[in-house]
Amino acid sequence: MYPVFASTFILLKPIEAFGANIVAGASLVALSDIFTVISLESYIVTILMLTISAFVYSNHSLKQFKLLEELNTIDPLTGAFNRRALTTDLDAALSSSERNGSSQLLAILDVDYFKKVNDKHGHAAGDQVLKDFVSITKAHIRKYDRLYRFGGEEFVLLISGMDNHQHRFIDNLRTAIKNELKTPDGKEITVSFGVAPWVLGTTADSWLNSADKALYQAKENGRDCAVFSD
Ligand code: GH3
Ligand code: MG
Ligand code: MG
Repeated sequence: MYPVFASTFILLKPIEAFGANIVAGASLVALSDIFTVISLESYIVTILMLTISAFVYSNHSLKQFKLLEELNTIDPLTGAFNRRALTTDLDAALSSSERNGSSQLLAILDVDYFKKVNDKHGHAAGDQVLKDFVSITKAHIRKYDRLYRFGGEEFVLLISGMDNHQHRFIDNLRTAIKNELKTPDGKEITVSFGVAPWVLGTTADSWLNSADKALYQAKENGRDCAVFSD
């Protein structure tokens, strides 16, 4: 039974393993006649100590695993998901749409004239604008929409399951950012959007390319606007 007691904590979640060990320990007491040879008290003390220390160890490694996962997927400056997470999620999003044809949008959001913010107010103020941008955007998207930092002042938004009011949703978001995102001296900061709806045959690269072309067009059109790829 010892290998069983020790390995449940590697194979199961800490609390499940704890329960399984208690059941296994009690079954041995009920079903085995080994206690004519070894002391029941010593068995109980040993198993309890083994179970508790394995639980503590397992809990600790679960916490470390979660921290590692966070470090691996979260952009440290803004708290948005990072590019690595985007790569993983794009594949999952593509598979989901290919399976059931569900509508999805990929938008690239690029802060307009961001270099000027840095030049005028300094890099730290620029960093704060990026953080503000993320918290404002997160406050205006639904909980299953995901925001990723693509690099610098460019972000990707993955929006799923929105059929009829995609344009209105994007426009409301753009307006909300424009109203709420400010330079340290209170001037408004705008964002340009390049939006690409998922279509049959889309790959991760083609999806990002379409959104990027649309973004280029939005910049050409004078910024502070959204362009949808056809
Ligand atoms: P456009 O409207 O065409 O997008 O102009 P822009 O100035 O926003 O674009 P550009 O690509 O010329 O400048 C982006 C700037 O973003 C340049 C770079 O120094 C700055 N930047 C990139 N990453 C960071 C960051 O993490 N923090 C800060 N403060 N600035 C950053
Ligand atoms: Mg920019
Ligand atoms: Mg840019």
